[in-house]
Amino acid sequence: MARCQALNKNGQQCGNQALPDSLYCRVHQPKEEEKMVIIKGPRTVRIRYKGQGDYIVASFTFSPSAREQEVPERLAEFLLDEEPELFTLADRED
Ligand SMILES: [Zn+2]
Repeated sequence: MARCQALNKNGQQCGNQALPDSLYCRVHQPKEEEKMVIIKGPRTVRIRYKGQGDYIVASFTFSPSAREQEVPERLAEFLLDEEPELFTLADRED
């Protein structure tokens, strides 16, 4: 069994075992319904990633070289809620 690819609040790789056919453990694996909501959200929000390694969620890859990304609003809410140590709203550039 592979290890979960998500990062915990210290920026360390999660120590849980990944679920079968997933990169993530039970804690970090969004439920199917959540994924659909996340991906289909109509509005987007720019968020900034503060972690050290790659963080992959719902087809987005955050890394130290790609810290800021425009993501669906629902995904932003999910990440800001679940991973407050790793994500913050990005400053508006306009
Ligand atoms: Zn995990």
